[in-house]
Amino acid sequence: MAEAKKFRAIKGVRDILPPESALWNRVEQTARDVFATFGFQEIRLPIFEQTELFARSVGVNTDIVGKEMYSFADRDDTSISLRPEATASVVRAYIEHGMHSRPGDVKLYYMGPMFRRERPQKGRYRQFYQIGAEVLGQSDQPAIDAEVLEMLMVYLERLGLVGAKLHLNSIGCQECRPKYVEKLREALLEVINELGADSQRRIETNPLRVLDSKTPDEQAIIEKLPRIGDHLCASCRDHFAQVQQQLKQRGIAYEINWRLVRGLDYYMRTTFEITAPGLGAQNAICGGGRYDGLVELLGGPPTKGIGFAIGTDRLVLALQEVGAGDVKAEVRKDVTVPVTGVVLKAEVGRVKVEVGIDVFVAWMGAASQPAAVKIVRKLREAGLSVEVPAEEMKFKKSIGLAAKLGARFALIIGENELKEGKYALKRLADGHQESLSEADLLAQLKAAQA
Ligand code: AMP
Repeated sequence: MAEAKKFRAIKGVRDILPPESALWNRVEQTARDVFATFGFQEIRLPIFEQTELFARSVGVNTDIVGKEMYSFADRDDTSISLRPEATASVVRAYIEHGMHSRPGDVKLYYMGPMFRRERPQKGRYRQFYQIGAEVLGQSDQPAIDAEVLEMLMVYLERLGLVGAKLHLNSIGCQECRPKYVEKLREALLEVINELGADSQRRIETNPLRVLDSKTPDEQAIIEKLPRIGDHLCASCRDHFAQVQQQLKQRGIAYEINWRLVRGLDYYMRTTFEITAPGLGAQNAICGGGRYDGLVELLGGPPTKGIGFAIGTDRLVLALQEVGAGDVKAEVRKDVTVPVTGVVLKAEVGRVKVEVGIDVFVAWMGAASQPAAVKIVRKLREAGLSVEVPAEEMKFKKSIGLAAKLGARFALIIGENELKEGKYALKRLADGHQESLSEADLLAQLKAAQA
């Protein structure tokens, strides 16, 4: 009899075994809980798509598309690829299902495996996992960028990840970036002989990626290159300044990193990365940014977008490094999953679920916005799902949108409320309204939730 062959998992691919799988469950469940309080809903996406979708969105000259995709010809010869990331799929789905006609911004999250043929090492795998979120809509208000970052930091804090650092940059728009890239290319050509082969190649294909170089010999040269921050157009400069102001208002610490350019073509303006301690070279646990224009590029209507992807494998490693990976804490008997959404009382199979958000915050007057941001954070911490418009809206429009989103309450914050230190809470089912202190407001909403 022939000796039985011993099978092993393919290089760069691994099993996640108990008890570690319990930590993965906690990481994923916490994402569901926290993201729901920010009004995000899950989208489940296919694992493979037409190769062209990724070529067009991620970019043909990127390493991901050029070297790392698992592509194959299907039996009918269509070229198919295992997804290397999921934003392209989210955008494809947004267009395919006409989601732009939904009320308010479309806020989606996903989690699952991604595939890239990279050189395997600690924190870098060929099948790895991401938890990501995207906001798609008509507005590019800096408050949206800041709220997405707030959600990320609240999530990491809830998991107990200490020492996470937010790196922030703006890479400009179609107006100013090409001009900057030209300047960068010229500057790089002057020093071409001092650069390594990879960077030399990138001068032609994707000069921004030279800034990503970790090669020790190139560091001093890169430091002297022109910086995007000095070449942003007036509107990008203004947008970036406002994002920062909104982050400060929310108490979110960040560091500007002018070399943060990201490896995907679709990013513009705000770009960011989060690093965690104890991970060595692969210390980026999250990357993201704004991608206005990607929906149009893929054949949809003009739409703004921003999102991020957390590398779940690395997040789990980071939690273990900082001692927050204790799986004994996993045993939860009282899990409640808030269900949020835009449709009231949908029938899902035979189970009737009530969906809709808890609170829509109608704030009026620029002075009310910081107060709105503060109280919203507290309501979300209490587990309520809350929607707060990124820009000021007329009262009637606010209440109209609140109703369309299936909100149970509207919280009204205007000049009078600010002056009196009170909040007006309106129950949308019957229009009943009362004026409440912060403590009473929290108590009432908690009681209504139970
Ligand atoms: P990206 O989609 O390239 O912006 O990456 C977002 C995050 O996904 C990174 O910050 C990493 O945490 C994670 N990631 C990307 N590639 C890998 C990989 N090959 N293995 C593990 N994690 C990865």
